[in-house]
Amino acid sequence: MPSPTPNAPHARPAPNGKTAMVIGAGPAGLMAAERLAGDGYAVTIYEGMPSAGRKLLMAGKSGLNITHSEDLETFLTRYGTSRARLEPHLRKFGPDQIREWCAGLGLETFVGSSGRVFPTAMKASPLLRAWLRRLDDLGCTIHYRHYWTGWNDADQAVFKTPDGEITATADITILALGGGSWKRLGSDGKWMEILLNAGIKCNPFKPANCGFELNWTDHLIDKCAGSPVKAVTLTCGDQTVRGEFVISKTGIEGSAVYAISATLRDQWLETGVGTLTLDLCPDRTLGDVTNRLSKPRGKNSLGNHLRKTLGLDATKTALIFEVTPRETLNDPTALATAIKNLKLQIKKPRPLDEAISTAGGVAWEELDDTFQLINRPGTYCLGEMIDWEAPTGGYLLSGCLIKY
Ligand SMILES: Cc1cc2nc3c(=O)[nH]c(=O)nc-3n(C[C@H](O)[C@H](O)[C@H](O)COP(=O)(O)OP(=O)(O)OC[C@H]3O[C@@H](n4cnc5c(N)ncnc54)[C@H](O)[C@@H]3O)c2cc1C
Repeated sequence: MPSPTPNAPHARPAPNGKTAMVIGAGPAGLMAAERLAGDGYAVTIYEGMPSAGRKLLMAGKSGLNITHSEDLETFLTRYGTSRARLEPHLRKFGPDQIREWCAGLGLETFVGSSGRVFPTAMKASPLLRAWLRRLDDLGCTIHYRHYWTGWNDADQAVFKTPDGEITATADITILALGGGSWKRLGSDGKWMEILLNAGIKCNPFKPANCGFELNWTDHLIDKCAGSPVKAVTLTCGDQTVRGEFVISKTGIEGSAVYAISATLRDQWLETGVGTLTLDLCPDRTLGDVTNRLSKPRGKNSLGNHLRKTLGLDATKTALIFEVTPRETLNDPTALATAIKNLKLQIKKPRPLDEAISTAGGVAWEELDDTFQLINRPGTYCLGEMIDWEAPTGGYLLSGCLIKY
């Protein structure tokens, strides 16, 4: 990996005599602006909020996971059914190129223990500052508080601004309007209605990387809300993930739940029921767990017995008591089976607005291989507004920074 170079002013390339309008100043829009300016376009960016990259800044609050260091073949599998469409672009500008690009902005990156890549500063603000400086050097203009409301009869883009409505045209238009969650950060998803009215097929938003609601008893909420359930496996359908999650007041959330959330959400959408199977002792066989639980308990409470024989903490024990019938608790063989196959019935996903990202959006069949709308030549869609999804792990931002 090259060491960071100072963020030297970017020389303006020779103008190509053409104009580009980028709507949406999130990572996808800013990257499009940088590339177009590099190709000599006179670029104007329009952003509805008073500042750029609000969701990017929020993403940086818990450590900006900008990409992933695993081998590219594994990396590409994370994009599921959208892999075929994204792969050529991720191969042109993937994890290595993202790290080089960060270095070019003066930001060193490192690989965390899970293989995730972060800027050394962890936050997004230094990256965003350096990026906006670069765009300024490249001659890009940004208009904030310019909220796009669609196209008028003359096919001009219309913006609501504090000074009233304005219109704009350009040789090419990039729509990079984000998904449908965390509306307060700017991506309100209202663009979908505009595109649908223009005859562009969009699939409804679905929460991705989201938590789920369960019918917890008040007792469990009092005892465990906010507590992690560590080192477990979660299975839904034919997907199993290992990791940890958190018991919340309303249900479950956290990294392992997000990792399995697409499968669990789709099962719930298709059947009206969503079932998660936990293995609370994934490193022990059923036989081993049964043998340990069959040891004489003496005067120990069942909770103490579970702790001493299997090392289960108070949260895991409370979870077992929450969902296991009394007769099972009293039978070591049945209890061992329950501990290795603890069933959680979800009520529904948490609301769309809380999701880290959203599936749904502009249907792939509306876009050509350069992300241009087939029925609206000269207009392109980029980033989370397209109907693809990926787990957390830096794959979302990587999918927004791709080269088209
Ligand atoms: C809490 C949280 C943590 C996250 N952490 C990570 C992480 O660590 N790693 C990772 O890879 N991803 C992470 N993500 C996801 C990542 O931030 C998004 O996938 C990414 O920001 C999407 O980029 P985008 O440019 O497509 O859309 P956005 O970042 O949503 O940008 C869209 C822009 O368009 C503007 N806009 C929308 N509508 C209009 C309109 N009508 N007119 C004008 N402007 C408009 C919005 O104001 C916004 O600025 C996280 C998300 C959240 C919420």
